[in-house]
Amino acid sequence: MKDCIFCRIVNRESPADIVYEDDQILAFRDTNEKAPIHVLVIPKKHIRSLVDINIEDVPLIGHLMFVASKIANEKGISSRGFRLVLNSGLESGQSVWHVHLHLLGGRRMTWPPG
Ligand code: 5GP
Ligand code: ZN
Repeated sequence: MKDCIFCRIVNRESPADIVYEDDQILAFRDTNEKAPIHVLVIPKKHIRSLVDINIEDVPLIGHLMFVASKIANEKGISSRGFRLVLNSGLESGQSVWHVHLHLLGGRRMTWPPG
C-alpha cells in the first residue's frame, strides 16, 4: 500500500532497524521506544487493523505471535516477562493503520495500561 509507512519499510523504501524477517513477517525497533526493548512485529501483508483480518489470515496472526515470542527469547526477556500490545481502532490509540504487535520488555510494566 503506497501511503502506508509500514509497507514502505517492508518494501525498503523507508529505513528501519530490522531485527527479524521471514517471507511473511518483519520486525523492527520502534522509533519512539517506550521500554528498553520495543520491537514492532508486523505481517508483510497490508491489513488495516485486527478487525480487518480474514479467516485465511488466522495462521498469519498465529505466526505473528510465534515470532514475537521468538524475538523475546533472543532478546533474553522471555523468563523475566514481556508485554505484547495490539492496538485496534481509534480509542485504543492505533496511529499506524497496518496491523502491528508491540513487543515491550526490559522493565517492569504497570497495569492497567493508560
Ligand atoms: P500504534 O499507536 O499504532 O499502536 O503504534 C504505532 C507505533 O509505530 C508507534 O509506537 C510509533 O512510535 C511507531 N512508528 C511510527 N512511525 C514509525 C516509523 O516510521 N518507523 C518505526 N520504526 N516506527 C514507527
Ligand atoms: Zn501497510
